[in-house]
Amino acid sequence: MTLYAERTFKIDTENAFKVGPHIVKVEKEWAPVVKLNLGEPDFPVPSHIKDEIKRQLDLDNTHYCDPQGLLSLRESIARQVSQTRKLEVGPQQVVVFPGGKPPIGLAQQVYCNQGDEVIYPSPGFPIYESFIRYVDAVPVPLHLDEASDFTFSPEQLAELITPKTKLIYLNFPSNPTGGVATRELLESIAEVILERCSEDVRVYSDEIYENILFDGLSHHSIASMPGMASRSIIASGFSKTYAWTGGRIGYAVFPNTEEAEIFKTLNINYFSCVPPYNQEAARVALENTLSKTAVGQMVQTFEKRRDEILEALNQVEGISCRKPGGAFYLFPNISEVCSKLELTEFYSALSESEKKETSPAGIFQMFALYEHQVAVLDRRSFGSLGSEGKHYLRLSTASEIEVLREGVQRLKNASEDQAGLKRFLERRPDLP
Ligand code: PMP
Repeated sequence: MTLYAERTFKIDTENAFKVGPHIVKVEKEWAPVVKLNLGEPDFPVPSHIKDEIKRQLDLDNTHYCDPQGLLSLRESIARQVSQTRKLEVGPQQVVVFPGGKPPIGLAQQVYCNQGDEVIYPSPGFPIYESFIRYVDAVPVPLHLDEASDFTFSPEQLAELITPKTKLIYLNFPSNPTGGVATRELLESIAEVILERCSEDVRVYSDEIYENILFDGLSHHSIASMPGMASRSIIASGFSKTYAWTGGRIGYAVFPNTEEAEIFKTLNINYFSCVPPYNQEAARVALENTLSKTAVGQMVQTFEKRRDEILEALNQVEGISCRKPGGAFYLFPNISEVCSKLELTEFYSALSESEKKETSPAGIFQMFALYEHQVAVLDRRSFGSLGSEGKHYLRLSTASEIEVLREGVQRLKNASEDQAGLKRFLERRPDLP
């Protein structure tokens, strides 16, 4: 007998959170860190939303409530999704969750049997890959190419679909790349899915960055493509759009009531319900016209930061970065930095077990944190399968512009600091 069940060690993690203790250590022992690692808008929750949370608390709206989500909020979500996706969605198809994250893993529990294949974008939000082995399914990464602005071609998807495919994750605008899919691309992806997949294959469309788009781009959902509504789950939430990551409200719209009921039962088993005072405020967030102004200002700020920081990054020798169309991340290619600093050689000389835990960009990430006090994430943090030989970093632009400028300067300093790297590699203060 062993203490832990076998599945316990099949789950992975989200490095954006895991790097936290390293930051604490560096700040305690050395100096303050410029933190560009977390995907959390650095704006306050708009005041009309905060006022509603307070009002609801004063009304003592603090008890258990409908495990599917308050009907008033579900109605509001259904209206908003119907309008924006040109679909007819009813509140009975909507389930509210404590954040955008829970339905990702729950969907694998609901739809996948042992051996079923799950296709997911890589680089992508790490939770897609993290859960797959935990439910004994098989991970099938769909690699997003820099050359196609971190989207993928219908042919690429078609090659990965087999009779075992059960779930396909899409995420536009994307974390970590900021890639955005055009309507034409989604149409051709839909054609491949309709042609190659049975009606029981679900597309999980993670649209949590739907409102953070630049250059006048508009959001499109795979669910709006002909024939796709009955096969798609639209997932979104309030963490990013309303800078409300601590509110823990997300939702998913299921193709029909039966599937929504199943997720409601899981909610009952896991969470009982989402705090009703926050749900009422989420309804206000969707319905109050003040939200449009607040979100618009935030997006404008993200766009300005993107423009300036993109230019600054591209001026650093050995770093090249494409222009993201949405979300609040930059995903520079640091291949040349890795070669210049001979990180690829250093990585190759590691033992097989050490290699599994890191990457050349991952070593640079830790070096930049410990020696230059700037926190970013490496490519491997966004899906490890097939990430070998891909040298990227993710910077979150959710900080004041001065902080971002300082962050880029520190990355530049790190990229030129051969002596500091030698010191770091000899000491490896990042290892336990
Ligand atoms: N999906 C994606 C693509 C994300 O980037 C995130 C958060 N970083 C989530 C889901 C989870 O959001 P939440 O904080 O609402 O759980």
